[in-house]
Amino acid sequence: MSFDRSYARQLDENDELKDFRNEFYIDEEKIYFDGNSLGLLSKRAEASVISLLDSWKNHAIDGWTEGEHPWFYLSEKLGQFTAPLIGAKPEETIITGSTTINLHQLAASFYRPDGKRTKILADELNFPSDIYALKSQIKLHGLDPEEHLVQVKSRNGNTLETSDIIEAMTEDIALIVLPGVLYRSGQILDMEALAKEAQKRGIPIGFDLCHSIGSVPHQLSDWGADFAFWCTYKHLNGGPGSVAGLYVNEKHFGKEPGLAGWFSSSKEKQFDMEHTLSPAEDAGAYQIGTPHVLSAAPLLGSLEMLSEAGIERIRGKSLRLTDYLMQLIENRLKGHGFTIANSREENERGGHVFLEHPQAAAICKALKAKGVVPDFRTPNGIRLAPVALYNTFEEVWKTVDLLRTIMDDKDYEQYDNERGVIA
Ligand SMILES: *Cc1c(COP(=O)(O)O)cnc(C)c1O
Repeated sequence: MSFDRSYARQLDENDELKDFRNEFYIDEEKIYFDGNSLGLLSKRAEASVISLLDSWKNHAIDGWTEGEHPWFYLSEKLGQFTAPLIGAKPEETIITGSTTINLHQLAASFYRPDGKRTKILADELNFPSDIYALKSQIKLHGLDPEEHLVQVKSRNGNTLETSDIIEAMTEDIALIVLPGVLYRSGQILDMEALAKEAQKRGIPIGFDLCHSIGSVPHQLSDWGADFAFWCTYKHLNGGPGSVAGLYVNEKHFGKEPGLAGWFSSSKEKQFDMEHTLSPAEDAGAYQIGTPHVLSAAPLLGSLEMLSEAGIERIRGKSLRLTDYLMQLIENRLKGHGFTIANSREENERGGHVFLEHPQAAAICKALKAKGVVPDFRTPNGIRLAPVALYNTFEEVWKTVDLLRTIMDDKDYEQYDNERGVIA
């Protein structure tokens, strides 16, 4: 391969997904590599919001059952569109709540301390919200998180060893919750092996797919994962605060959810208004209250696009983009103190590249001043996420070129090496 700009252009020419970029609102003055924090708006997502506003305008209360996308069935419909992204059955998937609320719901449903089995197994690298939620669930059972939350340690501060996690699946573990892709280093955990090992030991296991959904394929049903949950504003491009999702394996259907509400009902029974819940016979039972229709609306358009592109093709291009990025970094930023801190193995890395540098915060500010939107992660991490649906190889080339200028000219020295309020 060559490190010339023309080579990047050639890669773009040959990119089978290149036309999807035209579907997004792109600021051509900028390079947006933060789609793993907030994906960009597409015209189709915008149109689906307008369409649901129209159904409110035109149908008022009857919008629940009339119009193009009746609101009463919207969460199920979106679940059905999401299922192929996670390798689940449509009825195992529902769009509802937020990531953290869904984790609370699933922990309230699957964490049943009993006899010797009282602990939750997680890891020390997971996103703080997940850890806070698990600790509060432990406290709700009258137990002490210091003792009952086991967090698998990382050997190098960035990644986890499958064998360390399996070793921690001991007889006192009542529930396992792990990320699919680690939010900092982008490591993909071996969800299949972990689910199988958990199953052998009779421990329910669930995955946080925030950083993997829409970026890497999953086979949750085949792996036998018990549950999963995710947000939709990262790789699914659902917009700020868009409604999240969850998956529950069909073997658990028919149980009452830990946190019930009237939307946990079977659809036929919901409006009987009885005080005894008849839970839905599928993952819909894990809904709680009235769906946030307008915040789910963008997903109609964005999931349609993901389905047309196909998750395998998205993954293929994502790997090519990140591979190209890493090769350019290694060849053009030599001697500037960057370390590529994600795994180089394709089956161990997700949709972003994770760089470490002692001046990471200042470098991110310098990049932003030059029109590149990276993502700083304290204390010394830079996440760069070239997204398959809307980023180009030439943007990858330009970013590394700008980084080289920033380092050669010591541009970053103009900025303090502290994080902003949102980073
Ligand atoms: C983004 C993210 C969240 C966010 O949770 P919200 O409830 O949507 O705020 C949680 N967990 C992980 C791993 C994430 O990456």
